[in-house]
Amino acid sequence: MDLGLGGKGAIVTGGAQGIGAAIARCLAAEGCNLAIVDRRSGDDTAAVVGDIQACGVKGMAVEADVSVYSDALAGFESVVEAFGSVEIMVCNAGITWDGVIWKMSEEQWDRVIGVNLKGYFNYNKVAALHFKEMKYGKIVNISSINGLRGKFAQANYTASKGGVVAMSKTLAKELGRYNVNVNVVAPGMVLTEMMEGLAPEFKASALAETVLGRFATPEDCAGLVAFLCSDQSKHITGEIIKVDGGQYI
Ligand code: NAD
Repeated sequence: MDLGLGGKGAIVTGGAQGIGAAIARCLAAEGCNLAIVDRRSGDDTAAVVGDIQACGVKGMAVEADVSVYSDALAGFESVVEAFGSVEIMVCNAGITWDGVIWKMSEEQWDRVIGVNLKGYFNYNKVAALHFKEMKYGKIVNISSINGLRGKFAQANYTASKGGVVAMSKTLAKELGRYNVNVNVVAPGMVLTEMMEGLAPEFKASALAETVLGRFATPEDCAGLVAFLCSDQSKHITGEIIKVDGGQYI
């Protein structure tokens, strides 16, 4: 299937590693000029940018903390200037800082909501401003199955990921008239650095929840994101699609 993404401009937040890096590589392989936005820089992002450029497209990294709105605006504008246009926004940068509610500090709550929810607001807003004028655009927000079902010791994370789902439904309604699609991809457990600190028994119980008997790879998520960024899915908006091997049915 030709996704018809050649020459489109795309931004992926949290693209230095994990799911974001896989999405960046996949979109670049489909012909998108690709910018990753990450709080990391230099050697941490060079390999991904190198892989992007090896696809024969433009690649760049913007160092920014997604929770800062002014950086989102400046970063987005710098990518538009470099690529000529941006049609695709993938919000993916996220963190965890777990604890049961009675032990969760205000700082723990604020930081996770700041990155995972306000960070998505920031980049959805700057993309919306641009896409509305173009009367074209694709927004894909990475949530989590735990934002749909709740998860022990993750009040901050699940609130942020559930918030992303609700915000995305609202934006699909607000932006549909401007030919902008807004969708959500909700992975189950994917073995990335985010999951490295998890105790073996938690990983085993998550694996047991899947009906396919395996964890997702970052590439399993990336293929779906690329489809949602293409016009092959132009009549899909306001959707939440899980990539979880049946972990949460
Ligand atoms: P990861 O930790 O491997 O990578 C996250 C990336 O985001 C890193 O490059 C990091 O530097 C960047 N980042 C973090 N905070 C940032 C900030 N404030 N500003 C800019 N960049 C920032 O994580 P991952 O596993 O690839 O997860 C990617 C997304 O997928 C997250 O939103 C996560 O919640 C979601 N998700 C992951 C899983 C999983 O099992 N790994 C499951 C469901 C959902």
